Amino acid sequence: MTHVVDVVVIGGGQAGFAAGYHLRRQNLDFVILDAQPSPGGAWQHTWDSLRLFSPAAYSSLPGWLMPAQDGAEYPDAHHAVEYLTAYEERYTLPVVRPVRAKAVHRDSERLRVETDAGVWSARAVVSATGTWWRPFLPAVPGRETFTGRQLHTVQYRNPDEFAGRRVIVIGGGNSGAQIAADLAPHTDLTWVTQRPARFLADDIDGRALFDAATARRRALDTGNTDTGGVASLGDIVAVAPVRAARDAGLLKARPMFARLTENGAQWADGTRAEAAAIIWCTGFRTALSHLTPLGLRGEHGHIPTHGTRAADEPRLHLLGYGDWTGPASATLIGVGRPARDAVREITALLR
Ligand SMILES: Cc1cc2nc3c(=O)[nH]c(=O)nc-3n(C[C@H](O)[C@H](O)[C@H](O)COP(=O)(O)OP(=O)(O)OC[C@H]3O[C@@H](n4cnc5c(N)ncnc54)[C@H](O)[C@@H]3O)c2cc1C
Repeated sequence: MTHVVDVVVIGGGQAGFAAGYHLRRQNLDFVILDAQPSPGGAWQHTWDSLRLFSPAAYSSLPGWLMPAQDGAEYPDAHHAVEYLTAYEERYTLPVVRPVRAKAVHRDSERLRVETDAGVWSARAVVSATGTWWRPFLPAVPGRETFTGRQLHTVQYRNPDEFAGRRVIVIGGGNSGAQIAADLAPHTDLTWVTQRPARFLADDIDGRALFDAATARRRALDTGNTDTGGVASLGDIVAVAPVRAARDAGLLKARPMFARLTENGAQWADGTRAEAAAIIWCTGFRTALSHLTPLGLRGEHGHIPTHGTRAADEPRLHLLGYGDWTGPASATLIGVGRPARDAVREITALLR
């Protein structure tokens, strides 16, 4: 049986919910298909001590401010999950789960979304599947020879299983710094970054990052000089645990090593660090394989877009994947505006 609706949103994380909020306001007939058995998207799977890099009110989706978390300026991931769960209820978002979209095809006037739980036919599709589901590990010589444990950010939970052991954490972004800070007091830690670690000033958090991303987009859109956006400010938000570890002298980054060996890492000058485990905090790629049948990928694997709309498929919008789908769109506060614009365009197309 084929379900027929106006709009299918693929992915029921924050980006899918922001789209859902605006689709509701437009009274469109839509459904949100989510692969997870429960609400919260990627926030359900992060490490235990993760803190959001903005205060609650600055981590809000359209329509409803995230309530403050008792006693914490920066809420934890559990609080984000509770917020998204309540958000779904509040706006009675029509989420169907667990449903995994496998392929989107053109079907004359409509798009056909094939899933592991049936087929949906829609006049427009919003893809909002995030990046958490495609962890990225760089090709490093000797990676397969290392006999210890290797894991990615997505598998790390807490320091318990690493206590007292030698661990190498790789990555100079927020995940690398937060996980290194989490492990530093309990392990013999080597923290490795591609370029020297760049901490943002202590009084700068996600609010300033959002402003910088917005200013950059505005400058580029109006033909002005590139302001450099977020990257010009630094890479690591100094949330309290990171600040504490850094100030205690526990977060001293070494440059990237040349290769992995059987029992650790080796630098170009011959120095070595042994390790029982290596944690790759090396980022993510977009989870877009369900769109492959549409043949939209351009250079570097990205799908070219105008705003959120796929350049070569006006019925498809991509939401929440990063600045290329809207400034700061891969954040709670940043996804609201591109979601509104996407739904505006979809509404015009359908009417
Ligand atoms: C470590 C880390 C810390 C972060 N900290 C912050 C922060 O402090 N503040 C902030 O604003 N942002 C933060 N972000 C960025 C961003 O807010 C989160 O990554 C957020 O989870 C992205 O939401 P999303 O809806 O785009 O994707 P997700 O949360 O990944 O949701 C996507 C949903 O789509 C589903 N899905 C995927 N593929 C399919 C498919 N084929 N069919 C059906 N469903 C599918 C997934 O199961 C999931 O439920 C952080 C990101 C990371 C990685």
